[in-house]
Amino acid sequence: MSTTIERPVEAAHDLKPSYVPDNTVTDEKRAWCAATLADLPTVITFREEPVQVGRDPRGTQFRMAFTIGVTPGNRFRINLLAGASPSDLKHAEELIELAKSGRFNPDIWEPSTFKGGRSGWLLDSFWAWDGKHDVNELRPCTVYGCAKDFHTYRNGEFNDVHESAERVDAEFYDIDVSNFEDESRWRPYICFADEIPEGPAGLKVLRDAANDFDWLQQHADHLNSRLGESGGVK
Ligand SMILES: [Zn+2]
Repeated sequence: MSTTIERPVEAAHDLKPSYVPDNTVTDEKRAWCAATLADLPTVITFREEPVQVGRDPRGTQFRMAFTIGVTPGNRFRINLLAGASPSDLKHAEELIELAKSGRFNPDIWEPSTFKGGRSGWLLDSFWAWDGKHDVNELRPCTVYGCAKDFHTYRNGEFNDVHESAERVDAEFYDIDVSNFEDESRWRPYICFADEIPEGPAGLKVLRDAANDFDWLQQHADHLNSRLGESGGVK
């Protein structure tokens, strides 16, 4: 399912067809960004409003798949619109890196007051777009037990793996607990090193691995029981 919508041509005045990026960076601005923005963390949230695309009278296509807010002393927040792709997220993250390094210009970062009264800046520009659709889409994760915040979907189908934070990284084996949204749901997966010791030391590795696998199987069983109870919502 595509969640992008076509903006009608008559709405094209909302776009910025004459937009020319201001790439100037002064020493003063670089120092301000280093002191004010460089250490801020980034959070990602998902919005229900769909990605917007449009076309100016010359036929240039534009796309808005995210907005970014920043509040000094607090954080950057990327708001992904419904239908945003991994490449849209990458673009947003690049814009934050540029801002941190000094390219924080008023042509795209506009003063704004956010919910709760904090003031900062908001970037909500349309960007020139080549019209190519990334078939991958990011959606928030709602599966109980998953340590990730979002996943990739391809043509509307889950195309990623849910991962539990519970895992074992031992010297000769790793075990993770994953869920591919197939019929096996949550289960442990074990991977051994190419070579494990011979003799008693090797037997100990195998016993430890079996114990750890049992423990993570119990953890997976617990997660699967929660899937059954609540639909698995986090
Ligand atoms: Zn997940």
